[in-house]
Amino acid sequence: MAERFRVTYATLSDDDPRLHAGYETGVDLARTWLGATITGHISPGETEDVPSVEVTSPHDPGVVVSRVRTSTDRDIADAIAASARADRSWAATPWRDRLVIARRVAELISDRSNELAALMSMENGKNRLEALGDVEEAADMIRYYCDQMEANDGYDHPMATLNPAERTRSLLRPHGVWAVICPFNYPMALSAGPAAAALITGNSVVVKPSHHGAHTAAKLFECLREAGVPDGVAVLLPGGDEVGAALVAHPGVAGVTFTGSSAVGMSIVRDFGVDYPKPVMAEMGGKNPAIVSDKADLDAAALGVARSAFGFAGQKCSACSRVYVVAEVYEEFLASLVAVTESLVIGAPTDRDAFVGPVIDAAAVARYREAVSHAERNGRIAVGGSVLGGSTALPGHYLAPTVVTDLPVDDPLFHRELFVPLTAVAAVADLDEALRLANADPAGLTAGFFSREQSEIDRFLDRIEAGVVYVNRPAGATTGAWPGVQPFGGWKRSGSTGKAGGGRYYLPEFMREQSQTVV
Ligand code: GLU
Repeated sequence: MAERFRVTYATLSDDDPRLHAGYETGVDLARTWLGATITGHISPGETEDVPSVEVTSPHDPGVVVSRVRTSTDRDIADAIAASARADRSWAATPWRDRLVIARRVAELISDRSNELAALMSMENGKNRLEALGDVEEAADMIRYYCDQMEANDGYDHPMATLNPAERTRSLLRPHGVWAVICPFNYPMALSAGPAAAALITGNSVVVKPSHHGAHTAAKLFECLREAGVPDGVAVLLPGGDEVGAALVAHPGVAGVTFTGSSAVGMSIVRDFGVDYPKPVMAEMGGKNPAIVSDKADLDAAALGVARSAFGFAGQKCSACSRVYVVAEVYEEFLASLVAVTESLVIGAPTDRDAFVGPVIDAAAVARYREAVSHAERNGRIAVGGSVLGGSTALPGHYLAPTVVTDLPVDDPLFHRELFVPLTAVAAVADLDEALRLANADPAGLTAGFFSREQSEIDRFLDRIEAGVVYVNRPAGATTGAWPGVQPFGGWKRSGSTGKAGGGRYYLPEFMREQSQTVV
């Protein structure tokens, strides 16, 4: 058996054979888990025998990854009640003791990174390096939040005194039960991250994964249990949108974190907290621009754009889906982008060399078909444009990475978030026009810029309306934030609070301030 390594993604380079050998042992193990029934909290009196959803691999519709039992209304009500009960002793647990448990969770995740990543590749189609990254990002988020808690002394500080007989302290205290509603695209980082932030700060959590992340979430829950997170303090509630909606509507839920579409996110922002204000942290996708100046390193720009547009088949909230290029260098940049795009390896997510894997489901394929035919009618397909799935090698939902040009700059393809491997490129007169177009969209998650001129870089940084911005980054023009390095959160339509995950202002969002004056 190949030697097992931990913290592989973070500590070994992409071409280190040990990284690949480790992941392949993970594939062998994860295969034995395929087809499992995923259940969460089951209320007394309910049975396992309720409708379940069969989740097949995006790579191969013949492979059943899991059968996800849908949580019933009784399960949900009972889980929230159990969570509220458990929360009292968890909130009273000294925060340093909570950190010991949380750091143990991070260690267990790192120890199991190979099999967790391999399962994720099968469940949502993420390639091996990105899946290892997702798992290790989850562990690093937990570690970062623990460090933040310590750096801020548990958010408990003495205050000034006006009367010598009085002593006052200000402390941040938990809200209670948080619903953590998770997306399919980062089933570890975007479930473990917000859940850990809530738990570390003394809240309890009910976690609702996406169907294509439920199996991975169940493995995360094994780590939580093994590390000592008590029953009730963290509860898994699998199911579809109706389970998320029931959680948001339940009066016992004190706060919500949500990652997903802006339609659902905005309905939560509007509908949650009817009787009194309650916190919602929503991350609602993007329409992320890259701007390429005539003073850019064009090869670096093409590489950065291609990686961001087509990494995980365009299914990141941070994906680069529109590119504004100063006219003088438009043709040269486009030729370079087309060349990089043609060189990308499309393949099964568990394959060593695959860069582009499948998209999540048939609905994504339908969105792509529609966008491609729209582009054919109103612009030009510079590269890509075809549906590739259905072959023996690529039986599932495979799409060719696609670059679209010659569309009017107000075309819907510059504004609709598609979550498929397709990016639209337009020529612009100068940086000012590019910034105006970039900021014209209501989304404001990530943005990238390529230029060698400092005054242009300063202007971009000053004027761009986005929460996460990158300059001259071939590794990813708009993607690839890491906890403690690039806090990740959206402005405008992309986010509800402007406070970013993996950043230093995130934890306070999960608490409320109390000043205590004692004579
Ligand atoms: N954090 C990821 C990145 O920076 C994106 C997360 C998401 O898609 O929500 O690329």
